[in-house]
Amino acid sequence: MGERLYSFGALVSPYPLPHESVEQPEFGAAPHVAQAETKPLFAMKHTEVDVSTIHSALRSAHAAPPIASGEADSTPLLSECTDKLGRPLKDLRLSVIDQCNFRCTYCMPKEVFTKDYPFLRSASRLSFEQMTFLAKAFVRLGVDKIRITGGEPLLRKDLETLIERLACLRTPEGKDVEIALTTNGSLLAAKARSLRDAGLRRVTVSLDSLDDAVFRRMNDVGFPVARVLEGIHAAAAAGLSPVKVNTVVERGVNESQILPIARYFRNTGVVVRFIEFMDVGGAASWARKNVFTSDDARRLIESEFALQPLLTQRANDTARNFEYADGAGSVGFISSVSQPFCGDCTRARVSSDGKMFTCLFATGSLDLKPWLGEALAPEALAQEILARWRDRDDRYSELRGVRARVGSKKVYPTVRMSLVGG
Ligand code: SAM
Ligand code: SF4
Ligand code: SF4
Repeated sequence: MGERLYSFGALVSPYPLPHESVEQPEFGAAPHVAQAETKPLFAMKHTEVDVSTIHSALRSAHAAPPIASGEADSTPLLSECTDKLGRPLKDLRLSVIDQCNFRCTYCMPKEVFTKDYPFLRSASRLSFEQMTFLAKAFVRLGVDKIRITGGEPLLRKDLETLIERLACLRTPEGKDVEIALTTNGSLLAAKARSLRDAGLRRVTVSLDSLDDAVFRRMNDVGFPVARVLEGIHAAAAAGLSPVKVNTVVERGVNESQILPIARYFRNTGVVVRFIEFMDVGGAASWARKNVFTSDDARRLIESEFALQPLLTQRANDTARNFEYADGAGSVGFISSVSQPFCGDCTRARVSSDGKMFTCLFATGSLDLKPWLGEALAPEALAQEILARWRDRDDRYSELRGVRARVGSKKVYPTVRMSLVGG
């Protein structure tokens, strides 16, 4: 099997990826941003990033025209799909690859995810046809939002083809299914335009620091923050909306970045969400004392900018959202550790080899592959998912809180984040 190394400018990632399954990004070359404003915004040291230029670029990008609708696909809802705790199935996180070109210390620590790590073989990954078939079944059961994730989803070759197919799905009521993507942003500058053309609407980019040294340390492959900022700009310029930024805050590592990140994205239309460091599988260094709580993060921001709760909050939104009192935009906090939100959790996850997980912290899964054969009716797959969802009673984060209160030290095995996405 041919394998290549990923080069980040002068740097080379030590993590080879099977070449038949992933794109070969030209990190050495200047990323192509297919826009009129070709000024190299980030061809400068991170400390000199031009905030005023990105502000105006991001603002004008929000006026981009909507994406045209595809064909309707409104098969009737099978029957009510709620779990044992009365939670409907509304969101699907679809992982397209379990590999990544970063080694974020809180997700894929280098010591564990070595180049010999037994990642899924590319042959075991679902094809885009299978993913689309599967997505249709979820939509029939009530899903109206699909988030493409990974690993790093932009490493999956021709991802635009999958997005094109998913963008044609309609709910049984005939409404658009929201298609979103979570990415580390390393390939976004080159791909933002084609992703949008394929039908992607919204994108979330992970960005844990504006300080280049801290950022490189956290991604642990020496990837420069300027490239990710360039990706964020390209996404906004391509008309993706909203563009969100996810910042995982780990105490003692990057809490110094909370205010700089908040300041940077004010007045840009980009919504930042600060995420508490979680004990997901892969996060070997997790300890409760390393969690920088959302309340602390919010207080820090409020020391400089007044915030008020946003009233237009969706019940199943993972973030608690606030707006800047001076109208400079909004900011969110995802408090999975300090204030778990299992009661509103309407998310199912499917790994790139077709296993369905009903919780980010589940270990057991349902293999959907046997129901993805061409000869089988979509009905059989939907019934299988329905039965699994009806049997669901997961609420790991709430139970983690209970365990902590009674002083339990019991550690539960959890699925790795890079297999099922965030
Ligand atoms: N590679 C893509 C990225 O980083 O955006 C998508 C997959 S990544 C697993 C999805 C999200 O999970 C990211 O926003 C990442 O910051 C978050 N994440 C990973 N490990 C985490 C942890 N231990 N605690 C909190 N969030 C975590
Ligand atoms: Fe890769 Fe995303 Fe995990 Fe970082 S958080 S290691 S970018 S999958
Ligand atoms: Fe949902 Fe599980 Fe997270 Fe609770 S712990 S919010 S059930 S994914």
